Amino acid sequence: MMDVRQLSPFISVSPQLAPADVGLAASMGFKAIIGNRPERESEDQPANDEIRAACERHGLAWHYLPVVSGRIEDPDVAAFRALMNEVRGPVLAFCRTGTRSATLWALSEAPRLDAEAILRATATAGYDLGAQRERIQALAGEGGAPLQVAGKRHDVLIVGGGAGGQSVASSLLKRQPDLDIAIVEPRTEHYYQPGWTLVGGGVFERRETVRPMAEVMPKGVKWYQAAAAAFRPEQQLLVLEDGECLGYRILVVAPGLQLDWDAIAGLRETLGQNGVTSNYLFDLAPYTWSWCRTPARTAPSSPSRRCRSSAPVRRRRRCTGLRPLETTAAAGRSRG
Ligand SMILES: Cc1cc2nc3c(=O)[nH]c(=O)nc-3n(C[C@H](O)[C@H](O)[C@H](O)COP(=O)(O)OP(=O)(O)OC[C@H]3O[C@@H](n4cnc5c(N)ncnc54)[C@H](O)[C@@H]3O)c2cc1C
Repeated sequence: MMDVRQLSPFISVSPQLAPADVGLAASMGFKAIIGNRPERESEDQPANDEIRAACERHGLAWHYLPVVSGRIEDPDVAAFRALMNEVRGPVLAFCRTGTRSATLWALSEAPRLDAEAILRATATAGYDLGAQRERIQALAGEGGAPLQVAGKRHDVLIVGGGAGGQSVASSLLKRQPDLDIAIVEPRTEHYYQPGWTLVGGGVFERRETVRPMAEVMPKGVKWYQAAAAAFRPEQQLLVLEDGECLGYRILVVAPGLQLDWDAIAGLRETLGQNGVTSNYLFDLAPYTWSWCRTPARTAPSSPSRRCRSSAPVRRRRRCTGLRPLETTAAAGRSRG
């Protein structure tokens, strides 16, 4: 019976695997298996060749990186880290109990992740690595980061510093203030989008809905002012527009929506004129209000009609959406 324990979405560890477990590991989504137990440590240990053959049958990559119990040396850690950077995950690593695999992961992540976060992750998985605390702390900040990771790794990396991204960061920090959280957001301004309804309704000025991004970033969050360009989930890496890579344990993606104005023929050309407007655009919300407060009268639509009468002609306004309708109605009422 397999006993798989997750350390991060990228890597899990387990006690000794049997060749028959490999199919199940494949069905659980693992893409690679790492054997950290040297051959013939005990009588009842299956041969690694059998596990390798099972991996081949089930389409998993097999990597053999044996370490002796209680003697994990720096070159072992460096080799494990290099493997983590090239292997396609999720990965399942095993030894006799899983402790050596968990220790290798903890030490290889030490230059990039917070020591306490590593110890918490391993403890949650059932491995008490408290005895490794000093070694993990000593590795912190060492130049052990892989070539791809020019920046840091973070416990939580958030793409998008809008309402969603910032709320997630604040909420997580409220529950766990020592979390290492970073937000990737290219804008220097933060927009309070619901406020645009109030701009369209004449209650807010447009400038009241914009604030400097630096002012609204939750305290304690690292802000990368850049756009995310690509995801490399197999390696738990995010690529920024300038090619820099950031590592993460958990990735949150909140880049917002892109409105497709061209989905309605002619809409883009007429937005902002002829009474066609939308509060969903920062630039147009003031036009909504200017339209709402203009008396509901207009010139007749044809010259012949204009000749017939000089009286104002009521024009119908079309509102899709309840709030613009209500603000228009409120504006009308306030004018009597
Ligand atoms: C007029 C209007 C009225 C609304 N009224 C309400 C309301 O009354 N109640 C309500 O609950 N909601 C309301 N909403 C909706 C609410 O504002 C949105 O749901 C919310 O802002 C969405 O947050 P978000 O973080 O998902 O997206 P956004 O706030 O749009 O933020 C996305 C962020 O991701 C960044 N980003 C984009 N691409 C990348 C990239 N490649 N790399 C890094 N960052 C990137 C953007 O720069 C942006 O800052 C309203 C919205 C509008 C427009």
